[in-house]
Amino acid sequence: MKSIVRKLIIRVHSGSGPLVRAIAKKVFKSGWLLNNRIYQIFILGRVARVDERRHLLKPFINIETILTCNARCVMCVHGEQSMIGVMDDELFRSVVDQAANMGAKSVGLSIYGEPFADKKFIERVEYVRGHGLSYGLFSNGSLLRRDKIERMLDLGGFESINFSVNGFTKESYERIMPPLNREKVYGNINDFLGWCRAHPGKKPFVRVSCVGLEENRAERRDYVKYWQSRPGVDHVLIADQGDWLGELEAAKKLDENAATRGVANNNWLSPCQSLWSSLFVYYDGRVSPCCEDAGSRNLIIGDCREQSLLDIWTGAAIGGLRDQHRGNQRHCHDICGKCQWNQPWIKSPEIESGESAESGGEVSPVPVAAE
Ligand code: SF4
Repeated sequence: MKSIVRKLIIRVHSGSGPLVRAIAKKVFKSGWLLNNRIYQIFILGRVARVDERRHLLKPFINIETILTCNARCVMCVHGEQSMIGVMDDELFRSVVDQAANMGAKSVGLSIYGEPFADKKFIERVEYVRGHGLSYGLFSNGSLLRRDKIERMLDLGGFESINFSVNGFTKESYERIMPPLNREKVYGNINDFLGWCRAHPGKKPFVRVSCVGLEENRAERRDYVKYWQSRPGVDHVLIADQGDWLGELEAAKKLDENAATRGVANNNWLSPCQSLWSSLFVYYDGRVSPCCEDAGSRNLIIGDCREQSLLDIWTGAAIGGLRDQHRGNQRHCHDICGKCQWNQPWIKSPEIESGESAESGGEVSPVPVAAE
């Protein structure tokens, strides 16, 4: 049992083929596995072993340089509420300085906004690179400009980019991601791939992701085929829809057959690994341990306008949450108990060696590409 679970966990997170990933996802969401007492003991034991070393763990720090987005996607809270804000320079520099002092090797430069809508984005990248940090980001691809991308490629350290492209045909894309123009975005991303080819050795890991919705169900095969055929695209992902901790009104209207990240009621909720691996610094300085919270912003564990990031990472708020999850009481927590995110615990070498960090968005909950 132990080795089967372990192999499946590794499969899910190692970029396996779509069929293996689909099967593994089904298994990990199934009540058969989640409610199995041996599986629960196995996972809780793993969590306890990581938690014993919590003083050694380093978070992967995600920084929201901008909350504003130029799209109004149907599966995003931006499509239903006005969400705007830009991080001020002083706060941004302080967060980057602290991340570097905490031993980070890379940071995330987006959470719930469109990073290229930030007029100072290239300055931010320059500041990050000035500290020797690498970075990754999510973008909808609508605002790419050659001069900016070439500057980023020249600066180096551009580790990963996830393009959130939620439709293949013009009709569905523009229905799902208004007011963006499908031809412009597809053209931009293809141009981006060409600019990367002109900078050998500097290309980031490129993922193109789509949230699986009723509106794009019929065209997903064509979508995957198209993006897989583009030279320079490293990964194509169809992600399950999330409800952003109940904040997304549209998710309440989904029928029970819709593919969501949610696990069925009454299934066991495992401790959430985001508590041991990540910090998300919102544009206004508030800090959350996960991006599932990004749509509602209620799971706040500190404020880096008043506290250091290290104090937040080692503080009582996140410590209490870890204790509750580790003690198999996640279901009692007001927010985590209703959260759909229930990823299996990964035997992450980064976590176990005390260097929790990732840049491809595969381990931590990520805004649109989380499976
Ligand atoms: S369980 Fe959900 S809400 Fe709680 S920390 Fe994890 S992702 Fe966030």
